[in-house]
Amino acid sequence: MIGEELGEVLFSAEQIAARIREMGEAISQDYAGHDLVLAGVLRGAAFFLVDIARALTIPATIDFIAISSYGPSSKTSGVVRIVKDLEEEIAGRDLLVVEDIVDTGLTLGYLLRILRARGPASLKVCTLLDRSVRRIVDHPIAYRGFEVPDRFVVGYGLDYQQRYRHLPYIAALKAPV
Ligand code: IMP
Repeated sequence: MIGEELGEVLFSAEQIAARIREMGEAISQDYAGHDLVLAGVLRGAAFFLVDIARALTIPATIDFIAISSYGPSSKTSGVVRIVKDLEEEIAGRDLLVVEDIVDTGLTLGYLLRILRARGPASLKVCTLLDRSVRRIVDHPIAYRGFEVPDRFVVGYGLDYQQRYRHLPYIAALKAPV
């Protein structure tokens, strides 16, 4: 029994895998011949980054950046600090930021600002989930797995108070957060 708080499954492990295969094909086509660096945003995007990397048919470097938000974990202020930086130099390279979910877009806005300042040849975003109804700051999203409704979701990397990240599927939380 995983938890009483879990509501319905929104995306099964099979649906996620199938969508990631499609996204991997698209990324492989678009970045063929480029110096692609995938930058996964910890901790939420860890599972997604590993699976999307394995769905690529082109060479790619993988790296991680960890950020931490100030304030309660279920709310974003957009004020984040880097807890672990990328190890790769990204100047002149094609950087693809890999996110678990883009919600208000505040976190992504901060990240893109600091990464752009390092002079990558290109900077694009790949997110597994997009909750565009809550967007405050808009960013072009080059690759999007699924659009999600305005419900808090967990699993496949996404947490509620650090729990449920390990679920192979994505489920809604029953309790309002
Ligand atoms: P944003 O700054 O509002 O776009 O929030 C982005 C970050 O908030 C994501 O990278 C997640 O870490 C977290 N987040 C937003 N919505 C959810 C959710 O439904 N479940 C788990 N984490 C979420």
